[in-house]
Amino acid sequence: MSVPEAIPFLDLITPHVELEPELTAVFRQALHSASFIGGSMVEDFEEAFADFCSVRQAIAVSSGTDALRFALMASGIRQGDVVLTVPHTFIATTEAISQAGALPEFIDVEEKTYNISVEKLQEYLEFHCSRDVSGKLISHRSNRPVTAIVPVHLYGQMADMDRIMALADEYGLMVVEDACQAHGAEYFSQRLNCWVKAGAMGRAAAFSFYPGKNLGACGEAGAVTTNDPSIADSIRVLRDHGQARKYYHSVEGYNGRLDAIQAGLLRVKLQHLAKWNAQRRQHAAQYNGLLADFDGVVCPYEPAWSRSVYHLYVIRTPDRDGLMRHLKDAGIGTGIHYPVPLHMQSAYAWLNYQVDDFPVASRVATEIVSLPMFPQLIAEQQKRVAEAICSFTERKSIKPWREFESAVALSS
Ligand SMILES: *Cc1c(COP(=O)(O)O)cnc(C)c1O
Repeated sequence: MSVPEAIPFLDLITPHVELEPELTAVFRQALHSASFIGGSMVEDFEEAFADFCSVRQAIAVSSGTDALRFALMASGIRQGDVVLTVPHTFIATTEAISQAGALPEFIDVEEKTYNISVEKLQEYLEFHCSRDVSGKLISHRSNRPVTAIVPVHLYGQMADMDRIMALADEYGLMVVEDACQAHGAEYFSQRLNCWVKAGAMGRAAAFSFYPGKNLGACGEAGAVTTNDPSIADSIRVLRDHGQARKYYHSVEGYNGRLDAIQAGLLRVKLQHLAKWNAQRRQHAAQYNGLLADFDGVVCPYEPAWSRSVYHLYVIRTPDRDGLMRHLKDAGIGTGIHYPVPLHMQSAYAWLNYQVDDFPVASRVATEIVSLPMFPQLIAEQQKRVAEAICSFTERKSIKPWREFESAVALSS
């Protein structure tokens, strides 16, 4: 019996092989001009990426983590401020908050989209903070001023930005988007009465071009987008040792610039991003169809106001670990994004959160699994993934999901 070819979780080889002549031309250009840091390749990419996001400016930096840190610093976050975000994200979100000198506090995520729960955010602002004599909003938990929110557009789908912006306005908070997984994602804003791209609504937004992201470099890279020229200027200074003019340092900055080669490679790949995102959306629709009839599986939920770019295709299922083992035996790659919510990470033990402080994030972390998702995935492979999931649910005769859900509700 012939063993079917393995289906990887992610294919980073095919897209680069397809573009090899254009990508190697970038290397050659950089070598021949000895232009390695900054310069016209970086500026060209910045302009093209700003265009893609429909924002006034993009500032290329060395990683998504630096992009978020610089975006927060340039937005005016001060030492000791509280910045609100979710526990269900990659740790870079909170690392950047801490590195900007702020303290992360968490708001639970929403059951269906896995993004920040606006209800819980509102409840936090109303009942877990008070105004001090000077009118500052003070967190009861840490006794420090709450100044910003970092919504994470997880898995390629935007958070409910209108309602987040409305609360931010009401409470005088800044919004900095973590758009590291959401290049090209769209949100229908009722406030603006149009579709808006990720990175265009907050005061600033951070993007990552880590190789596995929807737009990936061949190494580390990131960018900040903003419509505010003063934020853009201060990020250009921060990423370059605090200098606007060589050797004249207005502040201490960072070594946070982007390599010219990476910018050139990203410029080539950016031309394909819209097509790749459309392919990801097709694959998601295909998975949704194939998996619709399984009671043991919950597919991603896309609200009417959202156009996700499916950085990841994440399903929920009660026996997640069993399903992953089964798929592995069938030669199918999967991932968990993320297995331990941030409030339960050892790195944040000092924040003294309990597992039940964020029940949705805690529960979701035990039930999610990310299926193979990349633009070059083919229908045949998706069918095999669905068949493998089907044979597992049959074999294990898992309780129907609805029953499972009510059992969880009863036990909590
Ligand atoms: C990838 C990612 C980051 C960090 O980006 P790097 O380029 O790896 O530094 C931040 N936040 C989220 C949600 C991410 O997925």
